[in-house]
Parts: sequence; C-alpha cells; structure tokens
Amino acid sequence: NFERIVARFPFHDALIEAAPISNGTPRRWSYTAMNDEVDRLAGALIALGIDKGDRVGIWSPNCAEWTLLQYATAKAGVILVNVNPAYRSHELDFVVKQNGLRMLVVAPSDRNSDYLGMARRALAECPELRELVFLPAHDIPGLTAGVPQDAREMTYTALLDRAEGLEPTALKLRMATQSAHDPINLQYTSGTTGFPKGATLTHHNILNNGYAIGELLGYTERDRVVIPVPFYHCFGMVIGNLATLSHGAAAVIPGRAFDPAAALQAVQDFGCTSLYGVPTMFIAELALPDLSSYDLSTLRTGVMAGSLCPIELMNKVITQMNMRDVAICYGMTETSPVSTMTGPWDTLRQRTETVGRTMPHLENQVIDPGTLKVLERGEIGELCTRGYSVMAGYWDQPDKTAEAIDAEGWMHTGDLARMDAQGYIVIEGRIKDLVIRGGENIYPREIEEFLYTHPSIQDVQVIGLPDPKYGEELMACIILESGADPLDAAAIADFCRGRLAHYKIPRYVEIRETFPMTVSGKIRKVEMRHQAVARLG
Ligand code: ATP
Ligand code: MG
Repeated sequence: NFERIVARFPFHDALIEAAPISNGTPRRWSYTAMNDEVDRLAGALIALGIDKGDRVGIWSPNCAEWTLLQYATAKAGVILVNVNPAYRSHELDFVVKQNGLRMLVVAPSDRNSDYLGMARRALAECPELRELVFLPAHDIPGLTAGVPQDAREMTYTALLDRAEGLEPTALKLRMATQSAHDPINLQYTSGTTGFPKGATLTHHNILNNGYAIGELLGYTERDRVVIPVPFYHCFGMVIGNLATLSHGAAAVIPGRAFDPAAALQAVQDFGCTSLYGVPTMFIAELALPDLSSYDLSTLRTGVMAGSLCPIELMNKVITQMNMRDVAICYGMTETSPVSTMTGPWDTLRQRTETVGRTMPHLENQVIDPGTLKVLERGEIGELCTRGYSVMAGYWDQPDKTAEAIDAEGWMHTGDLARMDAQGYIVIEGRIKDLVIRGGENIYPREIEEFLYTHPSIQDVQVIGLPDPKYGEELMACIILESGADPLDAAAIADFCRGRLAHYKIPRYVEIRETFPMTVSGKIRKVEMRHQAVARLG
C-alpha cells in the first residue's frame, strides 16, 4: 500500500513536524523523502542483524522519527513496541525484559525526564537489550543529543549509516518473507482500569483498520491532519499515521506534548483539514481565550475518541471549531482500535449522541455479561466485537487472552453499550465504572452529560464511593470554567432537582483543577476514587 501511495504522490507532503522549539522552522518529508528514509532505516535494522519478529522499542514523545520507525519496522518485519513515555526506570526495565527488547530508540533529552540515564541503566541491566539509539534532540534548546559512550549506543544518524553496506536486495527479500498475519506491533492498553496489557497486532489488523478509518473520513491527498494525540497509543499510530498516510494525505505533528494553542496554530499554519483529540483536548482548545483569532477555515473533519464524548462538546466542536464533519470513533487497543464510527451522513443526533455504527467487515453485539445471551436491541449490556481487527492476543499472556476473546472470536470489551434498531451504538461507560446505589444501576455518563450543561462547569466526572448504607454513593468531580463561582453539593442538588431522579443526584461534590490522566488522555476514575476515599476518611 505505502509504495503505491509513494508512486502516486511522490512530491506531496507526507510528514510535517510543525514547531521544533529551537528555531520554529518546520521539518518536512515528501512521500519520496519519507520512503527513502524508511528504507534506509529498515535496511539498517537488517544490517544490524535484527530478524523478522524481533522486538524494537520506542520510548519517546511524538516526533517525526517515530512515524519513520513505524514504517521501517513494518517493512523489515520487526515488531515495534510502544513504550509509555511516562514510564520511569523500574517500568522501563520491566517492559524491556517482558518483551525481550533487542533495541530501544529513545529521545535522549526531554525537559521533564532523564530518558538517557534511564535507558543506559536498562542497557546495563537487561542482557537481551543490545542497542540504544538516540533520536535527534533538535528541538530542545540548551540540550544536546546523547553522545554515544560505547559501541552499543548510536545516534539516529549513525543508525541510518549502517544501511550503507547492505546488499541492495536485502530489504526486498525480507519483505518477501512476510505475511499479512505476522505481528508487527505491540501496543499497550492505556492502563485506565489497571495494569496496561500488551496487545499483539498484525499488519492485517492495523493497516486495514487505519485504511478503513481514512476511507470513512473521506481522506485524499489534499488532506492535512493534525495529530496532537500520542503516537505511543493506537489513536496516534493507527487513526493518526496509518489512516492519513494510506491515503496520500499529510500527517502534521504539532509538538511533542499536547498544547492547545500549538494544535490550533498548526491547523492555521499548514491549512489543515482535520484535527484529532480526546475529549479533554477539545475542551482545552475551546477554553482558549483567543480561540476566535485562529484561522480554522480550512478544517473540515477530525476525530474525537478515547473516552465518552459529551454531546455538548461535540456540538461546540462542530459549531465553534468549524469541524462540520468531525467523527466520533469508538474502540480499544485490542481491536486495532476502531470498531464503530460516525460519518457526516449520519443525523446530527446520531453524530453527537452515539458512537455510530459498526465499521465495515466487523461485527458488534451486546450481551448480558452474566448469562452471555445476546440482548434485544435497546437493552444495555457488554459490547463484544469480532472480525479482522481483533488482536492476535495479549503478548505472552494466553490466560488473559482467553479471558478477553471467547471461543467464537468475540472480544469482550468491558464496556456497557446499547444498540438501536438501525445499529447505532451508545456507550454507557465501563462495566467497572457502573455505580450501584441502593440496588439501582446508575450510569455515571447520564449524570455527567446533564451536569455538563451547567454554565459554570468546564468538565465533570461522576464516580461511585463506598457507602455503608447504600453500597455506593455518587461524587461529582468538577473542573470549573475559568472565573466561575464555586459550586457545592447543595448548588448541584438544586440544579439537578426535578430534572434527575433523586438517587442520581450526587451526594458529594469536589472541585478540582485537573483530573488524573493516562498518557493517552483518559481520565483515571480508579485513582479519583482512591483519592476521594482517602480524603473523606
Ligand atoms: P486498560 O484496558 O488498560 O484499562 P483502556 O481500556 O483505557 O485501558 P485503551 O485500549 O486505550 O485502554 O482504551 C479503550 C477504551 O476506551 C474502551 O474500552 C472504552 O472504554 C474507551 N473508549 C474509547 N473510545 C471511546 C468512545 N468514543 N466513547 C466512549 N468510550 C471510549
Ligand atoms: Mg481496556
């Protein structure tokens, strides 16, 4: 697929890194330039003796080299392992050992972390790790790239040079040994509900999913897509890179870490047509005081995904950010990731209140998690997904795989959903977040949606806390709009009274500055519950 795109659009922009901090000059790769560098990189991996199926890790915030490595490992048949950029030494050693990483590619310098020091420690302590590669540190003023200290360390440029002596046919021969069903990527889940799990994904899983997403977004070589979500996660790698680059469009990286102003600046500077984000990112962009000063007239579409997308927020993104065709995607790392999606042909209600319908060539059904029977349309139960995009399994964890994927191939998502007669799916939240108060099932989403309409509330999460009388009690955790008067439990109760059933009115209200988040931008309700329980004693 990629070489066909390169042949069709050789001089189109493939990759743009918008804002290197040091000099502000964007870095750009045309499709030809990208393909040349990808081939050299893939050749270098082969020249170093890295075999098909070996694991190479990348531990870095977003940068263009990430995308280049994603394509190079795919061409060389090497499994790319996404290492969480938030990890520190102990977790890094664990990932290196668990996956037998042969090479680790790191951002040697970052404002907030000593990646270099921690990576060197892993090199000393994990015998299977044989090479460290330092990405260019071009955009961090005052910091220089790591200088290699021994033969096992090399800069990214030195790695590319390793391709020099390689037989010209070596890469083609390696590509010829690959099957579409070979694993190519080990993606970790976000760790929202517990310890992250490594999903083993094949070419077939992720490339087909990425391509289908790009089709439904209507991507062509004229599109430019701003990707502020981490490449570490499938949102960045598949919905971002693969959907974009499989259609001849340009992938625009606005910066290493998410910054709402940088994302909108990239839209304006490069005339971008599509913008991605998890809900909290769009909330931050809409809250920019100078939102209306950005030229967003080129925007047409985009993707909101990753967690429940509030209806009000979708409406604001459509009307205030000019993203008239913005889609909601739903899915999980284990399904490569997208299994349902909205489209511009859906009604406004379907596009804001549901996660759309099942993607082509996939199946979804809603079951009773107790009896495992398929439910009638409209009933709430666990969503299960089957088809080409379901992962090969959790890496090296057959027991966990068997718990998640049943004998008929259905991936049990752990999400509560209902499907209407036309197949539109509404996600009610995770089974683990369901609150049972005095025997009543309460879906936090319903209360969140309602509270979100309060003018003083910028973001809200509803959680259940243990309670001796009712089993669980509700707490609303609220981030206020800037300058809004504080809210307390009585004010929230007044707002809800007469409009929500009495048992859905939160007993506790907590005003917060931020919510605890995963790197992929998901709110960790588990942690909020722990914090609230500790505070309430
Ligand atoms: P872990 O499995 O480690 O606890 P995680 O489930 O958050 O973490 P991911 O695979 O990144 O890891 O996320 C998938 C989950 O994200 C889904 O199961 C679902 O709960 C949530 N999700 C994704 N997209 C949406 C969406 N559009 N609406 C609601 N929820 C969504
Ligand atoms: Mg999950």
